Amino acid sequence: MKAIQIIQPGKPPELREVDKPAPGPGQVLLKVTAAGACHSDDFVLNLPEEGFPYPLPMTLGHEGAGVVAEVGTGVTEISEGTSVAVYGAWGCGVCHFCSRGLENYCSRAGELGIAPPGLGNQGAMAEYLLVDDARHLAPLGELHPVAAVSLTDAGLTPYHAIKPSLPKLVGGTTAVVIGAGGLGHVGIQLLRHLTPSRVIALDVSEEKLAFAREVGAHEVVLSDADAVAGVRKITGNDGATAVFDFVGLQPTLDIAMGVVGTMGDVVIVGIGDMVAAAKVGFFTQPYEVSVRAPYWGARDELIEVLDLARDGVLEVAVERFSLDDGVEAYRRLAANELRGRAVVVP
Ligand code: NAD
Ligand code: ZN
Ligand code: ZN
Repeated sequence: MKAIQIIQPGKPPELREVDKPAPGPGQVLLKVTAAGACHSDDFVLNLPEEGFPYPLPMTLGHEGAGVVAEVGTGVTEISEGTSVAVYGAWGCGVCHFCSRGLENYCSRAGELGIAPPGLGNQGAMAEYLLVDDARHLAPLGELHPVAAVSLTDAGLTPYHAIKPSLPKLVGGTTAVVIGAGGLGHVGIQLLRHLTPSRVIALDVSEEKLAFAREVGAHEVVLSDADAVAGVRKITGNDGATAVFDFVGLQPTLDIAMGVVGTMGDVVIVGIGDMVAAAKVGFFTQPYEVSVRAPYWGARDELIEVLDLARDGVLEVAVERFSLDDGVEAYRRLAANELRGRAVVVP
């Protein structure tokens, strides 16, 4: 079968012919219907070769959807032909975090060698995807896989990031979204639907700002050296109640800390460059600011996000590519030329 693989760090991924996997006991084989390209893939592609964390070659794609093609022995929970999305943050299923659905924070995944598809395991950018356990599958029902696949990350991650801030985002407050890309454009929609807050979006080009407005931002501000003043002009002295940084580089972290108000939240979702850091401390931030850096989301939250899409309140802007053109999707992602999410359809 065809698969888009990372062969060598620092080089573009390649379309290759690989063996079609077969499901072992308890596993489920999906015929992939859609796979989303995430900026984290680009991050992984550019990690240094020395100390590269995953076995190579590795098929990319941690946003996956498919139809159940074959089940391994012992699998009775799901039947062939079911259209599903894949919850990708695989954990052990048993530890304290996993038992709460927070497999993204599994405390034993490392020692047990459990890794998500496309981030340690063979991923979804292929004709078939092997899933370790039926519990990782969320039936899509009437949702179209191409429209829904990115809800598994570009939807789930902002949802998990925003949810703990909801009690603070009451009437009269402001939420700021930095980076209106794959995750950010869904984050804006979530904030509009789940809160009465005024939503201000920041990005680096007029085109991206127009897109942010289209998906629901009330106000937009160019993410440049004047961004803090631009946002503060809108919020006044109160500042922002919650800032969601979907970039995570030093300039955006500085903007986030510069616009957050007293008792506000700074939520760092973008993984940046591994060097950038938010400056936190008594004299460097307003009183009682909370800073958190969440990773992905919980299993039950994926179900909630899919239900929001069913209710018609979430729509992922999709640029569609064939598997043969998947490498081009990654080029455009790296060049910041996408509007929303690139979805590859085998
Ligand atoms: P994307 O490329 O689709 O979107 C990034 C957006 O940020 C683009 O619109 C770009 O124009 C904008 N941007 C770039 N520099 C900016 C700046 N200085 N100021 C304002 N905007 C800027 O990426 P994505 O797939 O949405 O991922 C966003 C980030 O989140 C990446 O760092 C990714 O690795 C990370 N991520 C984290 C998690 C997690 O669990 N924490 C999950 C998925 C992705
Ligand atoms: Zn991702
Ligand atoms: Zn666990």
